[in-house]
Amino acid sequence: MPIIVMKFGGSCLIDKTSFKKIINITNIYKDVRKIYVVSALNGITDVLLKTAQNLEDSRIIDQAISLIEKRHIDIIEQIFDEDTEYYIKAKDWIDDKLSELDDAFADIKEFGLEPYYRDYVLSFGEILSTFILNQYLLSNQLDSVYIPANQIIITNDEFNNAYPLYDLTNSRVNNLLTPLLENPKKDTIICLTGFIGRNKIGYITTLGRGGSDYTATIVAHSLFSIGKDKDIKVILWKDVDGLLVINPKFVPNSSLIRNLDYNEAKHIANFGAKILHPKCLEAIEKYKIPLEIRNFDKPLEAQFTEISERTDKEQIKGISAIELATIITVISGSLVDVPGVLAKIFKTMSKNKISVSLVAQSSSEISTSFIVSAEDSEKALQALYNSTFFSEFFDIKAEEVAVINITGSKILETKTKAEIFNALDKKHIDVKAISQGYDELNLSIVINREKLSDAIIVIHDDLYEELET
Ligand code: ASP
Ligand code: MG
Repeated sequence: MPIIVMKFGGSCLIDKTSFKKIINITNIYKDVRKIYVVSALNGITDVLLKTAQNLEDSRIIDQAISLIEKRHIDIIEQIFDEDTEYYIKAKDWIDDKLSELDDAFADIKEFGLEPYYRDYVLSFGEILSTFILNQYLLSNQLDSVYIPANQIIITNDEFNNAYPLYDLTNSRVNNLLTPLLENPKKDTIICLTGFIGRNKIGYITTLGRGGSDYTATIVAHSLFSIGKDKDIKVILWKDVDGLLVINPKFVPNSSLIRNLDYNEAKHIANFGAKILHPKCLEAIEKYKIPLEIRNFDKPLEAQFTEISERTDKEQIKGISAIELATIITVISGSLVDVPGVLAKIFKTMSKNKISVSLVAQSSSEISTSFIVSAEDSEKALQALYNSTFFSEFFDIKAEEVAVINITGSKILETKTKAEIFNALDKKHIDVKAISQGYDELNLSIVINREKLSDAIIVIHDDLYEELET
């Protein structure tokens, strides 16, 4: 029997109607073995984080706890009949966990917001929501177990952005999940908290914001690694039909991307509309595990996005944008060929935890340009000015820009690139920098921020034939 790992995000956990839809989906997939990876209710992770960062006033803690309590109790009252065993268990769980959360806030107030405390506090969102869904499935006469993912996903020590340690995770999956899935007498659904893991010494870690997608693919990866059955699929239930060719903000009625491969998907997830967690593809690419992005409101819809080995090389898959970016250019005054300039730039950025998303250097090595998010630009510039190396020998320039990314195998053809630049030229849009790595399925173009919308529209219109429609 196939195994499907499904992820239900916060938008699948709104009210009684949405919980009923989960039962409907369960019925549609009744003949497969199922793992449900569950996110926090919408907005709860944000509340947890904001509260942990602002604990000076004890009223803030009380307000946060009562808000979180209210949101969960509201759901419980909608989905369970009062005083049933499920209702009571769910309510007791909320009580217990919120008192643990209260203690955690007190600790943070006393000792400061260490990275570990941050992840520990953030983990409560998923721990609350997943337990409720598990009780709900039970109350619908389904067999279901609640498993907190810190029993399953073992990670490195990178709090807040942890990576799975697959060997250790595989054996946890083998020991704890496989027996439940393979029990021939029972059709057990596993309800697993998204987003969280633990490091080797037992501290809770989190996989980065939006990380429940990643939880789903990590589990699929491990099941594939250790199991006999290789018929495994991941479904992410979202509030949209799938990935779109272009953000509808720029081009309304943008079409759905039906098929794309892992490489294309990685680019699109990274630059795109935040529908897919960029890291999550890493876990399924090696084994070619297919992943579907489907609309939670239309579970039987024939149109959805599938990420697998299958793609159409004749198409441009997506056009996306980084709307608020800054291009920083480091220009050498006199010396060409100073070894180690790039190393110094990147070291400076990495020390300050600034991510660099595009790099362009002329082969004369006179200048190097790179992109950081607008948010990080002040920090990046300060770091460069503060280093004697850069302040003495180099000029540093910065400009607010946007970056357009055009993704798909078709971009490897020179003709496609010619069409793109012709389109931009028609609208007199200056290209400030470009980047495409060797064999890269993505072309990045840096332009003036005000021209972004014009640029996307003209590229879309002129390359219409190559776009997936
Ligand atoms: N609850 C977490 C977040 O908001 C993880 C997720 O939603 O996937 O980032
Ligand atoms: Mg969320």
